[in-house]
Amino acid sequence: MISTDLHLHSLWSPDGQEPLSHIFSECAAKNLTHIAITDHLDLHDPSGDEGVKDLDRYLADIEYTGRNFPTMEILKGLEAGVNKDNLQETESLIAPHKFDVILLSIHVFNKINVAKPLPYLDSVSFIKAYLEETLFCVTHMEQYQVLAHLDYPARYTAFTLQDYVQNADLVEKVLRTLIERRKALELNTARLDKSENFKIMQWILQQYTNLGGYMVTVGSDAHKLEAIGRNFDRAEQLLSLVGLDKLTVFEDTRPKLISWTSYSVKLQDPNY
Ligand SMILES: [Zn+2]
Ligand SMILES: [Zn+2]
Repeated sequence: MISTDLHLHSLWSPDGQEPLSHIFSECAAKNLTHIAITDHLDLHDPSGDEGVKDLDRYLADIEYTGRNFPTMEILKGLEAGVNKDNLQETESLIAPHKFDVILLSIHVFNKINVAKPLPYLDSVSFIKAYLEETLFCVTHMEQYQVLAHLDYPARYTAFTLQDYVQNADLVEKVLRTLIERRKALELNTARLDKSENFKIMQWILQQYTNLGGYMVTVGSDAHKLEAIGRNFDRAEQLLSLVGLDKLTVFEDTRPKLISWTSYSVKLQDPNY
C-alpha cells in the first residue's frame, strides 16, 4: 500500500486551501508514513502569484506544527516553478534555506502558462517546446531532487500519448539526465483517473525503467484535504505494470527507498 505523499499544498500556496495542522491530521488519519509539504515558488509568474513569500517563516511553520504528529516523517519541501528566465534567481532564493526535497516544475515558459496553451499551437510542437524547456531546467538546475508532473500539459488540455511519443527522443534525454544526475521522477496522481494521463505516465515510467531509472516519488498534488492520497489505487496499478516495487522519499535531500508493497521495510539506497 502506498503510504507516501510527497506533493501537498497548504495555505502557504496562493491556491492552497488548508492550514498545515489540518493537512497533517488528515495524513495521519490516512496512515501515511512520509509526507512532504511542497508549496509553490513561481518567480515572475504572469498571474502575479509568486507563492511563498517568506521561506524562513514557511519552514518554521512546517517544523513547529509538525511536532504534534510524531507518527509521520514530515519533509520540508517546495515546488519550484522554473524556466530559463527565472532559474538563477530561484536558485539564489532557495540556497540559504534547508529543505528535505524540492520539486522542479515547469508551469510557465516563454510567458506561456502550460495549463492554458495558446489555441493556435500544434500539439506535437507544444509538447516539444515544453520538453525542451524541461530538459534545459533538469540539466542546469542544481537544487532539486524530483522532476514533478511530466504529464502536466495533459492535465488541463487534450494532449495525448501520441504527442509525447512523437517527441520520444526528447523524453529520453530528460529521463537520462534525471538518472545521470541522481534526481527522481514524480508519479503525480492528480489526473491518474483520466485514461490518457494514465497512459502517458505508464509510457514515461516504462521508458524510465527501461533506461535503468528506479527513483520514483508519488504525490497527489492536493490543494484540499479530500485530494490527499487521491488515485493511489491507480498509482499502485501503474507501478505494478512497470515493475516498480519501491518508492523514493528524502531526508535532508538524501534519497531513501521504501517498499510500497510492505511499507514497514526500509532500504537505504545502496548506490547513493
Ligand atoms: Zn505543479
Ligand atoms: Zn503542485
